[in-house]
Amino acid sequence: MRSVIVFILGVGAVVSAQSPPVSKPSPPKTMRLYVFDCGTLNISSEGVNRYHVTPTEVGEPRMPVPCFLVAHPKGTLMWDVGVIPDATVEKAGTNGARYDVNTTAAAIVTRTLKSQLAAIGYSPTDITYVAISHAHKDHSANLNQFAASTWLTPRAEREFMWKPGNERVEPSFYTALEKSKTILLDKDEYDVFGDGKAIIKAAPGHTPGHQVLVLQLGSTGRIMIAGDLYHYPPERTMHRAPPDNEFSVPQSAASRAMIDAYLAKTKTTIWIEHDFGANAKLKKSPTFYD
Ligand SMILES: [Zn+2]
Repeated sequence: MRSVIVFILGVGAVVSAQSPPVSKPSPPKTMRLYVFDCGTLNISSEGVNRYHVTPTEVGEPRMPVPCFLVAHPKGTLMWDVGVIPDATVEKAGTNGARYDVNTTAAAIVTRTLKSQLAAIGYSPTDITYVAISHAHKDHSANLNQFAASTWLTPRAEREFMWKPGNERVEPSFYTALEKSKTILLDKDEYDVFGDGKAIIKAAPGHTPGHQVLVLQLGSTGRIMIAGDLYHYPPERTMHRAPPDNEFSVPQSAASRAMIDAYLAKTKTTIWIEHDFGANAKLKKSPTFYD
């Protein structure tokens, strides 16, 4: 009997060393959040000033580009999908891929999103839902890989994505989503898994359909992954006005006030996605928050 067990373990080890996982990971018993490294943005001084803060006030001008996977007992949700498509990152090799998002923000990406998903047993085609905080280039690069997922998007953002002459987006990043199964989010809140633990909340202004993700994790507690409601923490602590190039400055200001009241009322911690110092301290996949 003992020799049979040794034999089976031996075969299993050989198979897992040579081939990627063939079956989806079984759903976790409680909700988990994985954080991936989807790159870094180098921001010029002029770029920092756009947010009505100075390089001295922010200290660190670089911005991380995180991607997130929520694994829930009833399915999975991918939230924000990077700044450079995986295929470009693969071609660039070990030095990383580079891409100028605009004249003030230069992206560098060294790891693919799909390799980080594969490391925890997932493939993009396994993912139940995909949503982005908003469609700017640094949040949408790998959307095409999630065309088989159900897309959760405000109608206004979907329209913004294919608006002719929109220079803030890159439609080639999401051509395949035009025909995806889509749930249009027309209310202030959408309960992704039906148990109140993952809520997509409207926070428009940065773009017409900008939104944030509120998670109620068993051990970690309540967090809000806040998209680009803010970029640098001093914008919030020093009460600076939203950038002049927002889709709607008054709408952004109203969303910031509404979200601040919500955070206080619900005792929720905000995660500013592009906050370099905060991101450096986050647990990265394969470790996770639960
Ligand atoms: Zn951004």
